[in-house]
Amino acid sequence: MMRCTIAASMRIGIDLGGTKIEGIAIADDGHEHTRRRIPSPRGDYQQTLSAVCGLVTDIERDVAARCSVGIGIPGTVSPATGLIKNSNSTWLNGRMLSDDLSRLLDRPIRFANDANCFTLSEATDGAAAGAHIVFGVIVGTGTGGGVVIDRQVLVGANAIGGEWGHNPLPAASGVESPGPACYCGRSGCIETFLSGPGLERDYRASGGEKLTAQEIAARAAAGDSLADAALSRYEDRMARALASIVNVIDPDVIVLGGGVSNIERLYERVPSLWLPHIFSDRIVTRLVRARHGDSSGVRGAAWLWNDQMKPQKPRRARRR
Ligand SMILES: [Zn+2]
Repeated sequence: MMRCTIAASMRIGIDLGGTKIEGIAIADDGHEHTRRRIPSPRGDYQQTLSAVCGLVTDIERDVAARCSVGIGIPGTVSPATGLIKNSNSTWLNGRMLSDDLSRLLDRPIRFANDANCFTLSEATDGAAAGAHIVFGVIVGTGTGGGVVIDRQVLVGANAIGGEWGHNPLPAASGVESPGPACYCGRSGCIETFLSGPGLERDYRASGGEKLTAQEIAARAAAGDSLADAALSRYEDRMARALASIVNVIDPDVIVLGGGVSNIERLYERVPSLWLPHIFSDRIVTRLVRARHGDSSGVRGAAWLWNDQMKPQKPRRARRR
């Protein structure tokens, strides 16, 4: 293991994905100094360990510094056992990834799941920079959520903080109940409505053709009433789902990422619909689109080591 100057301000973030492993080194100001990407050794735990170690070594050679290492993982580290659980990269499940990598890399390593990395990235130097309480949502093939308070991930006692995608859709109407079957075993989960496939299924069920979420949005913008109605239903559902979050953690900012977050009209329509579902006479919570896009995984992983950063001046004073 290389031992050169320890740069307290240089951080490595690793996004340990099912098909690729990506790594970056960023400085205090968020500037990215290097980026590397390698294929994931699918199905092989030992080779995954070697691949991550090799990536860290290469990145440290690039920046000529010993860095802190944060890793974004599919799934979570079980607080009860320290083992990886809930990962769709199944060869990681039941493994003591944290201990194994800490030993191999000779330093403590921090871990977080993809939604938490996304939220931390946006809360640190993205669309929610400087905000006190941030709720991040990835609306893509699934619907994940994460909570960051003062740039610290709210992991939670069960390591599921922010994971509201498998709550039932709030205030579900007759046609929304019991709702579509979800892979988690329940029906009518928020994810079944708010994921990209959820929007696509709803559009088809109303008589539309097989289109992607982006194509539905484009049709709606062009005046297609069927697509507009599907998107309007989607916005109303998102408003109800996010209102339940506002009532519990009262975030300053809600950041959307993932494919569906590229639909521009959500940022105006959803906040215009959520007030009746929120226990307050006025709402200052902002709904914004992510700034760092696909880089949120690696950037958020790097920012897991942000303890030494100076507090940023909030962009908006806390209300009350
Ligand atoms: Zn579910």
